[in-house]
Amino acid sequence: NESELNQLAQKLPEWLEASRSVTSQGRPASYIPELGHAPADALGITVMDGSGRVVTSGDCGLRFTMQSISKVFTLILALMDRGEEGVFQKVGMEPTGDDFNSMLKLELVEPGKPFNPLINAGAIAVSSLIHGVTPAEKTERILAFFRELADDASLTYNEAVYRSESSTAHRNRSLAYFLKDNQVLTEADEVEEILDVYFKHCSIEVTCRHVARMALVLAMNGTDPLTGRTLIPRRYVQIAKTFMVSCGMYNASGEFAIRVGLPAKSGVSGGIMTLVPGRYGIGVIGPALNDKGNSIAGVHLLQSLSVHFDWSMF
Ligand code: GLN
Repeated sequence: NESELNQLAQKLPEWLEASRSVTSQGRPASYIPELGHAPADALGITVMDGSGRVVTSGDCGLRFTMQSISKVFTLILALMDRGEEGVFQKVGMEPTGDDFNSMLKLELVEPGKPFNPLINAGAIAVSSLIHGVTPAEKTERILAFFRELADDASLTYNEAVYRSESSTAHRNRSLAYFLKDNQVLTEADEVEEILDVYFKHCSIEVTCRHVARMALVLAMNGTDPLTGRTLIPRRYVQIAKTFMVSCGMYNASGEFAIRVGLPAKSGVSGGIMTLVPGRYGIGVIGPALNDKGNSIAGVHLLQSLSVHFDWSMF
């Protein structure tokens, strides 16, 4: 392990620059206007091992919003608040094969019930399950949980990105109203309030180090190896990691499982969270996206690493 990390430290700059060259084939998301300002040729990575040793390369200091990466942890918090039964009443367990904001399958099988918690409709339903009387209280509990996992009490959401998304999110609004029409959001759930919780957790601002630190807790099945504290029950980490494999990279999850073979979650800001079970937490940022909405250079880089070190779980 020690020697692998040393080798990684040595080789990473070269691999990173090779991957950076593919950024020109993608571009940052712009449907949330504020995300369009991100540097298109940026690429950074942080790898953290179980003793907290860190290897970084490239633009690892770049700040970005978690976007869909946050859905993994709101799912876990909802599981901790409501149990498996409570969560799976509202969302399914299957990949869709469609885009992350698609409405195509919302009326299939059980009307209104999103196929899984990582597509937008599913994550909005999950936001409604977080305990808290007011939306502000739900958001505070999400922030407190993320701060603990990232080991940074100053973690918060980016106001400009939050506003930018909230004022343009016509599609997410329509998904949420559809959920309400089908009683997936209940009488008590105010659509705009649930959306507010969702936009805010998507806008939580991090660096690759935070993402790697949070992923490390997942890699260690819920116990923070640096403090020895169990932050998440093992069963819920298992559920989250399974969704990361089947749905974490949107409708490119099958290809990612074949090419990289690790549980991962991407976000439209260009972040990717992944992990090597029992060994590493990994955070990547590369704002230029491919046509599936994943960081084009980030996926390229993770593939180089996984192939070289034989990290595939399969
Ligand atoms: N906040 C984003 C949205 O709802 C998250 C989507 C993503 O990262 N794929 O569109």
